[in-house]
Amino acid sequence: MPTFQPVRGMRDLLAEDAEAMTFVMGKARETAQLYGYSEVITPVIEPYELLSAKSGEEIRSRMFTFKDLGNRTVALRPEFTSSIARLASTSLKNEPKPLRTFSVGSVYRYDEPQRGRYREFYQADFELMGTSNPEADAEMILLTDRLMKTVGLRNYAFKLGHIGVIRGILSQENVEEKTQNAILQRMDKKEFDEAFKLVKSEECLSTLRGSLELKSDDVFETAEKIKSHVEGYCKAVDSAEELKNILKLVTEGGCQVQSVEPVFARGLEYYTGLIFEVYIPELGIALGGGGRYDKLIELFGGEPTPATGVAHGLDRIVLAMQMQKCAPMMECARKVFVVPVNESMKGEALRISQILREEGISAELEVMGRKMNKALENADRRKLDYAVIVGERELKQGAVVVRDLAKRDQTVVEIAKLAKIIKA
Ligand code: AMP
Repeated sequence: MPTFQPVRGMRDLLAEDAEAMTFVMGKARETAQLYGYSEVITPVIEPYELLSAKSGEEIRSRMFTFKDLGNRTVALRPEFTSSIARLASTSLKNEPKPLRTFSVGSVYRYDEPQRGRYREFYQADFELMGTSNPEADAEMILLTDRLMKTVGLRNYAFKLGHIGVIRGILSQENVEEKTQNAILQRMDKKEFDEAFKLVKSEECLSTLRGSLELKSDDVFETAEKIKSHVEGYCKAVDSAEELKNILKLVTEGGCQVQSVEPVFARGLEYYTGLIFEVYIPELGIALGGGGRYDKLIELFGGEPTPATGVAHGLDRIVLAMQMQKCAPMMECARKVFVVPVNESMKGEALRISQILREEGISAELEVMGRKMNKALENADRRKLDYAVIVGERELKQGAVVVRDLAKRDQTVVEIAKLAKIIKA
């Protein structure tokens, strides 16, 4: 047999990376609890039709789609929102509103693999359904701020926009939805000339081109400029006003927004209102992003239910933490290696390991039957903190030898005090 490697774009997360990933997942889950989001677990495989309905051409073309043995066309989820919208239109449809859900897990997109871009990656997803009020949108940004802060990231920046500005202009110019989507998709990739080629009306074109020039350092000023620039396009004006409201609430909520983008689009097609992303300067790709999607639940046969949400890219958050050498990653519980000095001490070593674990201390038993110096060498190599050496002489006094593997010194410690001393 040949030796096997993971499929292109797939990764094994070995101990250190897996630990970092579960740390970030834990922080996302803690954030969900603090903000009142209930966790739901949905399948990785969903009907292709559900996932493709409103995800947009870009994501649709990158889905892992296949027929199952029952001849159903299914796909691996490329994101969570469609699954949650499915729930909101079926099992959760009679739940009192607002409905706040949290999900975490792997998602799949056939992206070109590179740093921070994989074909299997992990997201934490927060959805808030049942209201179109701007405080719901502000909450998405505030909880993202909290997650970034709590994993220890610094200098992260929020970028905000409103999809209703561009759609408002295009709709009033009678540009059909399909063409709107194609325009937005090109804008998402910053291919503005390509996007503008699809616009026929001169007035519309000049408004869109002019929008590119509206950015100023002050985010409130940019929002105000957008509003006056789109004068005459009433839905675009309303959208700009809504963006201003959200901006005000986010700022009052204690989070700073670094930029407002007049021409901002995101890959997903279901957005109807606010869209936003969060970045760190060291990494040119978004750590998370989200926005408002007021029509999706209705499209899946549910009651008309306005909704907003955010997905955080956990692999990229881990990458960002490594780049910024974030302190929480360094914090790890003490690890103890328990070594019996000989065959007859194995049972005692097992018992003492159990005592430590009962106290919440990570204890690994030497199971390779190695001689003491070999066992200690191994513990050193694996960067364990202490070795607890279980020998007859000390046991008679109800004690063991505790060796500090970093300092290379050792003392005799009473078993009754062992956990306390290691914790200290
Ligand atoms: P989206 O579902 O497109 O809004 O993406 C939400 C977040 O998922 C992004 O901001 C990224 O952090 C992350 N993400 C998207 N695509 C990838 C990918 N191919 N690899 C790793 N992370 C990704």
